[in-house]
Amino acid sequence: WEQQFLPPALHLDDRARASQIESRLAPLVLCGAALRRVGDVFQRELEAGLRERPSSLQMENTYVPELPDGTEEGVFLALDLGGTNFRVLLLELRAGRLVREDVKHYHISDALRLGPGEELFNFLADCVQDFVRAEGMEDEEMSLGFTFSFPMKQHSISSGELITWTKSFKCSGMQGVDVAALLQRCLRERNLRVTVQVLLNDTTGTLVAGAHTDPEVAIGVILGTGSNGCYMERAERVQHWEAKHERVRDVVVDIEWGAFGDNGCLDFLRSSFDKEVDENSLLPTSFTFEKYIGGKYLGDLLCAVLRGLARDGLFPAPPAWGAVDSAHVSLFEEENLVGAWSQTSEALRAACGAPVTRHDALVAQHVARIVSNRAAQLVSVCIASILRRMNRARAAVAVDGSVFKKHPRISSLMDKYIALLAPHHQFTLQGAEDGSGKGSALTAAIAARVAARSP
Ligand code: BGC
Ligand code: MG
Repeated sequence: WEQQFLPPALHLDDRARASQIESRLAPLVLCGAALRRVGDVFQRELEAGLRERPSSLQMENTYVPELPDGTEEGVFLALDLGGTNFRVLLLELRAGRLVREDVKHYHISDALRLGPGEELFNFLADCVQDFVRAEGMEDEEMSLGFTFSFPMKQHSISSGELITWTKSFKCSGMQGVDVAALLQRCLRERNLRVTVQVLLNDTTGTLVAGAHTDPEVAIGVILGTGSNGCYMERAERVQHWEAKHERVRDVVVDIEWGAFGDNGCLDFLRSSFDKEVDENSLLPTSFTFEKYIGGKYLGDLLCAVLRGLARDGLFPAPPAWGAVDSAHVSLFEEENLVGAWSQTSEALRAACGAPVTRHDALVAQHVARIVSNRAAQLVSVCIASILRRMNRARAAVAVDGSVFKKHPRISSLMDKYIALLAPHHQFTLQGAEDGSGKGSALTAAIAARVAARSP
């Protein structure tokens, strides 16, 4: 069992160099026992979070009480903010099926991502206005689902405060601000007849969209710029409720595992490379677990390791900080899979500003492998823990995000590690498309259905 967690060894003609490199990388290699320990800590933090005790896991009540049943109908707007792109969408559902989807992407400048929050939200409302004008729907009354992929304190299915920015956003003046209400105000100021009907996280959208295609889907995961998961929890196990919920049996809980360990409970995992990545990030000391997994950081990790090896004379020249990103990790892994190295060395030459040999390219591929393996293991620990907690005969996991889609090895590694960590639970990982679009419209329709039913 233990052996199966170990990544393959590095083979170089220069055996001494290979073993020196391996020893530098050792802090990034986790054994099965360490992963079990991470799983135990995760369970503890998860329980504490649900009970509103101190925990690094938010375990947020999303107030989404059920999954699609195939009756969802209507025309909805959706906003998708949080990853690499900002999108406005128009979606039409008939009997739960998506029959129309118009999408427009908008670029969010650095000034907007890092400036005052009010300006960002005014821009979002401008984009909605531009979009509905182009659709010729400016005067129509419409419901909007706002997919806001950041941690929130939710007060209801349609309101919630930002807890902290993550990934590449850091707007000022947003602490404790209800993001749905702020968006609503900006829309009203533009005389748009658009109502923010649901406020949801991208993992929730992914779960809901996945469950629409396959009723066995009970967990939603994002493995993209950032990483997070949500699942169906029994309502009675959730402490935080700001509304009556006698008739609600289950509810989607947004775990926010990106912040796992921010209270120090995972410090045993942290390597000097992780510290370097964290210190160079936009938001240091926060979302440290996400920095082991998210696409925003995998390239930084690869870069930090190569720089460390260069300092020790084990790599020719340090890559410039930021010159390596997660697309490089995927590329190196792809070439490694087929035993090639020419694109790897080309990319390294550009990043390091110096020529590299075939051996150097193999070293970089090995580092990409180690970093990817650990990311797959850590995300698998979380998924395996939830599978065990839910204890269903079978469960499907809907997964979305750029790393899941583009990394050539990640999904097969996850299949392997989840099976090792939750050997008694049957599961499938399913690539889910468009959780933030389709998932948001489905969730808005579910919200309308639930509201119509309540007295
Ligand atoms: C956010 C989560 C989100 C995840 C994936 C994290 O940084 O805190 O809310 O689900 O990224 O987008
Ligand atoms: Mg909580």
